[in-house]
Amino acid sequence: MKTGTVTVLGSGTSMGVPTIGCECEVCRSTDPHDRRTRPSVMIEWDDRRIMIDSGPDFREQAIREKINRLDAVIYTHGHADHILGLDDLRPLTYPRVTAGKRVPLYARPETARIIRSVFKYVFDDDYKYGGIAKVQLHEIHGPFDVHGLTITPIPVMHGDTEIIGYRVGRFAYLTDFSDIPESSMAMLKGVEVIFLDALRHEPHPTHSTVANSLRLAGIIGAEQTYFTHICHDLGHAATNKMLPPGVQLAHDGLRVTINLES
Ligand SMILES: [Zn+2]
Ligand SMILES: [Zn+2]
Ligand SMILES: [Zn+2]
Repeated sequence: MKTGTVTVLGSGTSMGVPTIGCECEVCRSTDPHDRRTRPSVMIEWDDRRIMIDSGPDFREQAIREKINRLDAVIYTHGHADHILGLDDLRPLTYPRVTAGKRVPLYARPETARIIRSVFKYVFDDDYKYGGIAKVQLHEIHGPFDVHGLTITPIPVMHGDTEIIGYRVGRFAYLTDFSDIPESSMAMLKGVEVIFLDALRHEPHPTHSTVANSLRLAGIIGAEQTYFTHICHDLGHAATNKMLPPGVQLAHDGLRVTINLES
């Protein structure tokens, strides 16, 4: 069996936990599991390493996980909590690390458009001030290949906008959704480890709740389900106690072995 490892770089919602200015119990918690940076994961196999999204906390995450090399970043959508760490990819894109090759980024056309507009200077051949990330942005229209690994975009509804999660082998990562269409549920057959958005208990227009993601986890039937994109309503220890076997809140720094066989 070809295996890999997924490392949770960040398990928090867009504002992170603790949330600035908040004094709720979870924001004041001394349990390190209650410190959630913005959502992203890293997948490693053989000597390869890719990330799903590069959020605003990427620099801290990279230092924490001692990331010294990166083969690609694949993006789910263009929201700030998923792309704003792009500039901090810089040291991992410099020729001494990449032997002169640009680090590839993969995104759907609408996400690529946002990335090009937010990071205009990175893609501007006339930019003269140096110090920019040496990246190459590829637009994806379906499954694609990174160093021999097939990566399949899984469309999900994030409010009324369709964005994507990803499936790799028997692992899937679906951050930021309020609903998963039937056609995408069919693409999750046989998944063994899955990450699902579970923002909080209260309904939200663009994110899933704990109850909704529990329902979906039951239908998907993965051996292990992790919830992510978590806000300060959910304390790590207390919430995990009430979740059924096979379902847990993710936390920053969590590492899970995944099956990469298709
Ligand atoms: Zn998000
Ligand atoms: Zn709080
Ligand atoms: Zn979003």
